Amino acid sequence: MSITTRTHAKRTPTTAIVIGASMAGLVTARALSDHADRVVVLDRDRLPAAAVTRQRVPQSAHTHILLGAGQRLLDGWFPGLTLDLRLQGAVAVPPRDLSWFQGGAHRAPADAGVTLVSMSRPLLETTVRERLLSRCRNVTISDDVAVQGLVVQAGRVTGVRVDGIDHRADLVVDCSGRTTPFLDQLADVGYPSPDVSAIRIQMAYGTRVVRPREGDGPLGALVIDDPTRGHRLGTMLPIEGGRWIVTLAGFHGDAPPTDPEAFAAFARSLPSPELADLLDRSEALTPVLTHGMPTSRRRHVERLDRTPPGFVVLGDAICSFNPVYGQGMSSAALQADALGHAVARHGLRSARLARSFYRRAAKVVDVPWRIAAGADFADPRTTGPKPVGTDLVNRYLARMVLASHASAPVVRKLLLVQNLLAPPATLMTPATMLRVLLASSRSAVVRRPTSVTDIPVPRSAPRSRDKGSAAIDPHHHALALASHPAAGAHPSMIAR
Ligand SMILES: Cc1cc2nc3c(=O)[nH]c(=O)nc-3n(C[C@H](O)[C@H](O)[C@H](O)COP(=O)(O)OP(=O)(O)OC[C@H]3O[C@@H](n4cnc5c(N)ncnc54)[C@H](O)[C@@H]3O)c2cc1C
Repeated sequence: MSITTRTHAKRTPTTAIVIGASMAGLVTARALSDHADRVVVLDRDRLPAAAVTRQRVPQSAHTHILLGAGQRLLDGWFPGLTLDLRLQGAVAVPPRDLSWFQGGAHRAPADAGVTLVSMSRPLLETTVRERLLSRCRNVTISDDVAVQGLVVQAGRVTGVRVDGIDHRADLVVDCSGRTTPFLDQLADVGYPSPDVSAIRIQMAYGTRVVRPREGDGPLGALVIDDPTRGHRLGTMLPIEGGRWIVTLAGFHGDAPPTDPEAFAAFARSLPSPELADLLDRSEALTPVLTHGMPTSRRRHVERLDRTPPGFVVLGDAICSFNPVYGQGMSSAALQADALGHAVARHGLRSARLARSFYRRAAKVVDVPWRIAAGADFADPRTTGPKPVGTDLVNRYLARMVLASHASAPVVRKLLLVQNLLAPPATLMTPATMLRVLLASSRSAVVRRPTSVTDIPVPRSAPRSRDKGSAAIDPHHHALALASHPAAGAHPSMIAR
């Protein structure tokens, strides 16, 4: 008989530091709280207790839509979150109650098993922050703390520097947003910088919060102009406090004006009157606030051949999308989920963690990135690395626009894909293509008939390579189809 003696070596508790307490930082902290003994979130901003826009996240004054995929992850991490938001005034907008104008007509009413929960971005962020702190006892958040730099020792990131003092961590996650300085700092000490893809869109938002004085309108609306002509768009959605948020957007220098009358005229220039009508019968609660974004920008961290253990980057720092598709927060949640899986597999301290996470993150970012890129290139002024096959797909999109006016099943499929809840390839099955073909002929919009042969068939699509792009495949086609504004569905305004 042998006696096995087990020595229980005392395990050193693990610490993760997350830089940034915006949406990416919060969901990252939640995902890591299952794997680290201590998670410390640091933000340079003063984090307000109330649901108000804060200085370092200026985009939070604008319409923020949480796609179905993000909503599901958040509800899983924070059970009861949606109910909590509703109790604080967030408004449920079923897809069929959303007035959705695109391609010259309103789309057919349809539901897809997901409901948009409409609220201000600050309400979502503060509620998630409160839930994180109350649910995860191993998470702390410190505000007014600006991280000055990473501590790099013997080829490993071992912590962060704040006010000249080093704080040790087994893993540092950089959620400091689109303009992160930390990858540059690593480049300064000899690590390669990731390749960057930038798609030039010159997007400009103008947003105003209003309170309707009188009258009824739809429960929410989005209006999208033809991207090959004006490429203007706008949304109006109810948010907490009986208020509505109205956002107008233009591209390539066509910025919504801040003057109230000119703003209303911009709304009136849209091809359907819902937004202008709401502005007419409302009291303005804020001035018109603007935000510009010159490019959609993706850092290809998955291509890095060398990156120090103890550090990963996540959220907008990896990929900052054209916001009209409403993907940023959901992409951050999907990335945080991927990080949780990578840590579960390799451990917080593993030298293999970064590579494994970056591979997973690239997969989840790829879908929304291609969706946004495909749609952005419908505007002929857009420049940058264009996914192969985009132009070909756009011919099919013309049919999908028409089909969405007449067919609830087509709208349903689009909603699922645009909410990142179904693979884009589901839009390209023979049955769906046939449905699109038949339904498009029932659209109320009078159009010159398009020849059936204009519809690209994925299997016979060319396999050539454009520079800087992947080879064409049905998946890519479907992505663009899913997202293109002309496809009868605006991803950032997807009703769930
Ligand atoms: C106009 C606009 C509209 C948008 N609409 C939508 C939408 O409808 N739906 C959607 O899902 N997404 C939308 N987005 C994207 C969304 O805002 C982001 O994807 C989301 O906030 C996640 O970003 P992040 O947390 O990675 O970075 P950010 O939100 O930029 O946050 C970075 C955080 O890091 C902190 N920080 C930075 N440097 C330091 C430092 N050195 N030390 C400590 N802290 C630091 C900052 O204070 C900040 O809190 C929109 C974006 C814009 C610009």
